[in-house]
Amino acid sequence: MSKIIVAGAGHGGLIAAMKLAKAGHEVLVFEKNEKENLGMAQSDTVEISAFTYAGIPLPQEFEIVRNIITFIPKDKDVSSLTVPPAEAESILVDRKILINHLINLCEKQGVQFFFGVEIVAPVLLGNRVCGIKTAQQDFYGDLVIDSCGVYSPVRSNLPDYMCVNREIKKYDTLNSYRVYFNKIPDVPDPETTYNVYLRDDGTVGFTWLVTEKDRIDLLISRYHDPEEDEIAEIIKAMQEENPQMGDKIIYGEERAIIPIAQPLAVLVADGYAAVGDSAFMTCSIKGSGIAYSLKAATMLARCVMADTLRRYDAESLWDYQKKFYKEIGFSACRIAIIKNILPYMSAEQANELIKQNIVTTEEMSKLMNEKLDAVLNAKGMAVMKDKLKRVKDNPLLKGIISNIAVWLGRFTVTETAFPSKYSPQDVQKWSTKYNDFFDSIRAE
Ligand SMILES: Cc1cc2nc3c(=O)[nH]c(=O)nc-3n(C[C@H](O)[C@H](O)[C@H](O)COP(=O)(O)OP(=O)(O)OC[C@H]3O[C@@H](n4cnc5c(N)ncnc54)[C@H](O)[C@@H]3O)c2cc1C
Repeated sequence: MSKIIVAGAGHGGLIAAMKLAKAGHEVLVFEKNEKENLGMAQSDTVEISAFTYAGIPLPQEFEIVRNIITFIPKDKDVSSLTVPPAEAESILVDRKILINHLINLCEKQGVQFFFGVEIVAPVLLGNRVCGIKTAQQDFYGDLVIDSCGVYSPVRSNLPDYMCVNREIKKYDTLNSYRVYFNKIPDVPDPETTYNVYLRDDGTVGFTWLVTEKDRIDLLISRYHDPEEDEIAEIIKAMQEENPQMGDKIIYGEERAIIPIAQPLAVLVADGYAAVGDSAFMTCSIKGSGIAYSLKAATMLARCVMADTLRRYDAESLWDYQKKFYKEIGFSACRIAIIKNILPYMSAEQANELIKQNIVTTEEMSKLMNEKLDAVLNAKGMAVMKDKLKRVKDNPLLKGIISNIAVWLGRFTVTETAFPSKYSPQDVQKWSTKYNDFFDSIRAE
């Protein structure tokens, strides 16, 4: 059996570790944090179908939710836009409980954990990744699964010819500040409880305030790293507007990064596979990546198990890349393309899009439920053309819809370069074409 190194105890890495240990491989997970410090102090929404896909039980404690999200425009005279309940059932789970649940599943299968060990780079031998460098020593394995998150030192130190690493640029990530406040008893809940405020210029970011049963969840997400006084100002404004929100911080108060760009063009190299945030596997309009990670890790583990010759090279791991793109990646790209409009958009334009019924609950619902086929089929495109006609003389909106239509069309052409069979030349061509496309639509 093979020796498999999982770099970072990310969600996907843990699922792959569990499955591969169950299949008899020797699996070692290296994580920079101590076990008791793992997981952020916050609750996350994760679709139940991802647990089913991965074939794992739900954690012990969670709440079933179908979020109903309301977008609140800048102009108070423009009605807010409430999206129907999410189509898929999700759980709302504390991140610490979820990570510990995944670790328990791994431990039951004999995965070995090394906590408090910081990885600094991959170990390369010729063209192959053959281990990890840590502050203490090097560890060698037949395959390294990179689950180190968005700033993975394994991915970022891979040589360019592997075509895996991509420079992280402006608008690829959001800086988030998450905090939970007490809820004032006897103040009735607002009419809408999951509110996303579109007050700020698109280049700034957004704020959400969720009124839960017994606490208030505030998330401030910005493209820049928000200063303390900016955060204090937003909290004050939210408290003035939300009488149910108290002033005692009861949980959270953490800063973190949310990757919101398209997935990596290439996920694999000889001896290496990336999963989760290290490969930018998030639904970029929502910033959610746990479900994608659980599913992608399942695909990766199956691909590794199918490699009976134990080559674990880019060619044998290409089936993982293909399956990921087919089931998740191409759709995630289209969501990233639509999301890409945000940095180009002012709060007034967001206002106008809602006011003129250009963006409706129907479209937002399709986007939030990742049902893009319905927006991009012949009927959806006809609706888009009609909207284009309606906004062509609107000085605020012309350009916005046509940009999306053009970008989606161009991506269809880019997509044809995806190699169905592995060859280094075709992979190189694909990665250049894919990265050039996304660079060409990037806001400055
Ligand atoms: C505020 C916020 C809200 C979010 N809400 C949701 C949500 O509701 N639903 C959802 O699905 N997703 C949500 N996400 C996204 C989600 O966190 C990620 O997409 C998801 O965790 C997948 O990331 P990952 O597990 O691959 O990486 P991570 O969670 O980043 O895990 C990486 C692991 O690698 C370790 N590591 C990093 N560097 C090293 C190193 N050098 N050496 C050793 N170990 C290392 C880290 O300590 C960490 O344990 C949210 C993210 C943020 C920031």
